[in-house]
Amino acid sequence: MNLKELYQEIILEHGKSPRNLTKIDNFNKDAKGNNPLCGDNVHVYLKLNEDKKVEDISFEGSGCAISMASASIMTDLVKGRSENEVKEIINDFLGMIKENPELSSKNLKDDERTKLMCLSGVKQYPMRVKCATLSWHTLVSAFDNNKEEVKTEN
Ligand code: ZN
Repeated sequence: MNLKELYQEIILEHGKSPRNLTKIDNFNKDAKGNNPLCGDNVHVYLKLNEDKKVEDISFEGSGCAISMASASIMTDLVKGRSENEVKEIINDFLGMIKENPELSSKNLKDDERTKLMCLSGVKQYPMRVKCATLSWHTLVSAFDNNKEEVKTEN
């Protein structure tokens, strides 16, 4: 199996059985995102404790395999991390999807890096970039507890 096939496999697997696809009942921050071009919707629920650590995170939503896989991988990856660490990873991921060839965060283990890199295939497709980044922009909005829906289009 080459790298491209491995990446494809991870996306399909997460797309079919997304992790953390539920509404946690003890969240204290949340935000919604919408990508009308593809029909992707996501609602991120975040439980941030007093130490500014992500105690729990989940999402609800529907959309294409890329958007669901990305939300699934994201929620899996940020659980248990500090807000600062998560924000660093978000920036790293968005930078990689938009222009950087690689991820540079020191906070990622090899297998975590692989899971994020599997979304790198969308780079050449601006439409798909919106699918892959929707949940990440929505997570940023959730940290800010922004009640206005995140939109990929104005
Ligand atoms: Zn999509």
